Amino acid sequence: MSKIKMKNPLVEMDGDEMTRIIWQQVKDILITPFVELKTEYFDLGLKNRDLTNDRITLDAAHRTQELGVAVKCATITPNAQRMEEYRLKKMWKSPNGTIRSVLDGTVFRAPILVDCIQPLVSAWRQPITIARHAYGDIYSGSEMLIGEPCTAELVITNSDGSVRIQRIHQFDGPGVLLGMHNTDESIGSFARSCFKYALDLGQDLWFSTKDTISKTYDHRFKDIFAEIFAEEFQADFQKAGITYFYTLIDDAVARIMRSPGGILWACKNYDGDVMSDMVAAACGSLAMMTSVLVSPDGKYEFEAAHGTVTRHYYRHLKGERTSTNPMATLFAWTGALRKRAEMDELAELVSFADRLQAASLAVIEEGVVTGDLKNLVRLPDVQVVDTIGFLEAVGARLTQGAKS
Ligand code: NAP
Ligand code: MG
Repeated sequence: MSKIKMKNPLVEMDGDEMTRIIWQQVKDILITPFVELKTEYFDLGLKNRDLTNDRITLDAAHRTQELGVAVKCATITPNAQRMEEYRLKKMWKSPNGTIRSVLDGTVFRAPILVDCIQPLVSAWRQPITIARHAYGDIYSGSEMLIGEPCTAELVITNSDGSVRIQRIHQFDGPGVLLGMHNTDESIGSFARSCFKYALDLGQDLWFSTKDTISKTYDHRFKDIFAEIFAEEFQADFQKAGITYFYTLIDDAVARIMRSPGGILWACKNYDGDVMSDMVAAACGSLAMMTSVLVSPDGKYEFEAAHGTVTRHYYRHLKGERTSTNPMATLFAWTGALRKRAEMDELAELVSFADRLQAASLAVIEEGVVTGDLKNLVRLPDVQVVDTIGFLEAVGARLTQGAKS
C-alpha cells in the first residue's frame, strides 16, 4: 500500500512524561505506516524548554502562525517540585499560556462520545462543545482583603491626567474586594473565533452571560457579539442553516440539560472553566475529550485536554506497561491532519483522518478499552488492554477496513 503524501508541513510540538511516550507510539503505530508525514518538529519537553530558555515555545507558536496548523503534546507546567526534579534554571511559564498569548485564541473542548458509554445526562446524544474565552476577568484580577472600615472606589486615570471615580462600597468592617477587566479587542477576537468555529462545525452557537446583573461589563460582551454577528457572519450562518442565540447563563444551564447536544456553547472565562469540567465529567473521562485552540485569523492548534499523566509515567519508568488512554492524543493528531488536508485540498488525507477516528471508536464499541473506561463501558464483554494493545487494535481495525 503506498503512503498518503502531504503538501505542506504542520507544526509538531512534542511534550513530557507519559504523553511523550504515547505521542511516539501513536505516530509509529497509526500514522507513519500510512502517511508520509511532513512536520516541523519542536521539542517542548521541559528539558529542552530549559535548555533554550523557553525560546522553543515561542518559536513553535510563531511557526504555527505561519503554517496555520499545529499539534501539541501535553507538557509540564513547572512548579517548585519540578524545579528540583528537572534542576531548572527558572520556573518557566505554562507553554499553553505562551502559545495562547501569541495566537490570541479561544479554546474549544468537546467530549468524544461512544454508544457504549452513556453520558450522565441522559438527553445528551451529540457532543456539547464549549468555547472558553481564555483572556481576562478574574484570571487576571486584582484582589484585596479589607480590614478597617473604609470607602472603596474605582479610580480611572486618563492619559491627560484627568480622573474618573466611582464608589464601590462603604465598608463598616472587614471584607473582600476584586477588580477585573477585559478589552473590546479580546472580546471581539473571542466572538470571531466562535462564529468561525460554529460555521466549521455546522452547529448552532449559544452565548451566555449574566447581563441582567452585570449591566455594563457582561452587556459589553453581548453587544460586541451582536455587532460582529450582524456585520460579518449573519449571511454565512443563514447559508449554513445554523443560528446564533444569546441567553442568560442560568437559562443556558437549564436548557443544556434538556438539549440533545450538537451545539457550540460560548462561555466567558470563568463560566467556560467550570462548564467544560462539568461536560467532561458527565461524559466519563478527560481522555475522551478533544481540545483545539483557534485564533481569530483561523490558525489551529490541536492538543489533548488532559496533562502528562505523571502517575502512569512513574510506573512506566519502573518497567510496567501502563493502560493510559491515548484517545485525546490520537484525536489531536487526526484533527491536525484533517485541518492540514482541508487547507491543502488533500481528500485522501481527510479520509484517512476520518477512518482512523472511526477505527478507534469502533475498537471501544467492541469492548476493547484502557483502564480508565473499564467501569464506564456498558457491554457484556470488556477487555482491558494496555496502551500499545489498544493502539495495535486500532491499527488492525484500520487496515481491515481498508481491505474490505
Ligand atoms: P493529568 O496528567 O491530566 O492526570 C490526572 C489523572 O487523571 C491521572 O493520574 C489519571 O488518573 C487520569 N488521567 C489523565 N489522563 C489520562 C489518560 N489519558 N488515560 C488514563 N487516565 C488519565 O493531570 P495532573 O496529574 O494534574 O498533571 C500532570 C502534569 O501535566 C502536570 O505537570 C501539569 O503541569 C501538566 N498538565 C499539562 C496540560 C497540558 O499540557 N495540556 C494540562 C494539564 C496538566 P489515575 O492516576 O487515577 O489513573
Ligand atoms: Mg476547570
